Amino acid sequence: MLDGVREAVKKFLRSSADYETSVNLFIKELQKTLIKSDVNVKLVLQLTKRIRERALKERPPPGASRRDWFVKIVYEELANLFGGDKEPELKPPKVPWVIMMVGVQGSGKTTTAGKLARFYKVRGYRVALVAADTYRPGAKDQLRQLAERAKVLFYTEPGDDAVGIAKRGVEWAKSQGAEIIIVDTAGRHKNEAELLKEMKEMSEAIKPDEVMLVIDASIGQQAKALAEAFHKTTPIGSIVVTKLDGTAKGGGALSAVAVTGATIKFVGTGEKLEELEPFKPKKFVARILGLGDLEGLLERLKGLEEADKLEEISQKVLEKGDITLKDLYYQIVSVKKMGSLKKLLQMLPGVGLALNDKVLGQVDDKVLDKWLAILNSMTLEELEKPNIIDRSRMRRIAIGSGTSVKDVEELLKHYQMTRKMIRQLKRKRGMLNKLMEKF
Ligand code: GDP
Ligand code: MG
Repeated sequence: MLDGVREAVKKFLRSSADYETSVNLFIKELQKTLIKSDVNVKLVLQLTKRIRERALKERPPPGASRRDWFVKIVYEELANLFGGDKEPELKPPKVPWVIMMVGVQGSGKTTTAGKLARFYKVRGYRVALVAADTYRPGAKDQLRQLAERAKVLFYTEPGDDAVGIAKRGVEWAKSQGAEIIIVDTAGRHKNEAELLKEMKEMSEAIKPDEVMLVIDASIGQQAKALAEAFHKTTPIGSIVVTKLDGTAKGGGALSAVAVTGATIKFVGTGEKLEELEPFKPKKFVARILGLGDLEGLLERLKGLEEADKLEEISQKVLEKGDITLKDLYYQIVSVKKMGSLKKLLQMLPGVGLALNDKVLGQVDDKVLDKWLAILNSMTLEELEKPNIIDRSRMRRIAIGSGTSVKDVEELLKHYQMTRKMIRQLKRKRGMLNKLMEKF
């Protein structure tokens, strides 16, 4: 679904128009695609407004292009729309955990109940399925077969006392030591009000830990109203979007998320028992954006941001005209976060780094690792007052870091050299400033 987004991103990255024109063009296409995919119009407008504002306001870190930065903004905002960093918690917070499935007929409740049973069964849980759909003929048998295939416990009763069956089923499952109990319910009654009433009674009888709303991806904008109606009766805890395999849409179901505040926990991607995937907003959006190396791009941008921060710290060091071992430590940690020293040098234009080119020339990544180990073995006091590091402390640090006393000495020598250079720089700058004042 949302193929249009992928195309728009490609076009955006290739476009030779100026930045603002490309941004506006992209936003138009994004709106078109999202609305076509049934995402609620109001949501779409809010989203694109935010993207546009950020795109025009934010400056990428030095070394990154505005276009790359824009892709990052789009990625983040889309991911937020679908739940952001909130990855669903799949592990039940306690056992036994009772899940009640709700949703209209044909949405995929029974199938999903079976898939969930299998999902948790293969993860080592004792699972029970309870068939409480007394409305549709064959519904109980459908679930019984799924229970057999998933090799989990199963309960039902003849008759049409749905609430009673659910209640006794949950009790029976608990007595059997079931840790996850999934109750399948009916989807269609003579009228909607009656269905909602039954849902309410059932939920009061079994007190589910989680009410799971099952939504068919193809139902479009109705998803929102439906989610709201169910939510009012029995607060929805999580959502499963089914049949994402068969439709280009699904945006409607996604708007339901925004409306109920519930998160999508799983998506169904086929009729088979194993075709159920935990929903990961970021992964989902990365797939929508269709950038194979999106991860690489994001990593590179993160590196550049880190470099920018480092540049800032280094600037402060220069202004202060002094450097502590702690500053040095932070710098090395930042460099490590960015990957390698070589990469850093490519990213940092000019000298901003307190460790200037001349010093860096003698240092490679291996040396940095050693230094990091040494600094890690120092106490806070030693980092702040390196003067107190005598021979016996050096020995302790060397042992703690798996290095030699000579290595520790070298690091300290290097530190003193850097410090001297920074002080000189400061003096030079001071003189320059004084000279400038005279003119
Ligand atoms: P219920 O009435 O809500 O219990 O819905 P069912 O579980 O009986 O499913 C209705 C139909 O949708 C069945 O034919 C299922 O095989 C099919 N179905 C359910 N989930 C999916 C899915 O994720 N993908 C596809 N392609 N079909 C599904
Ligand atoms: Mg069913």
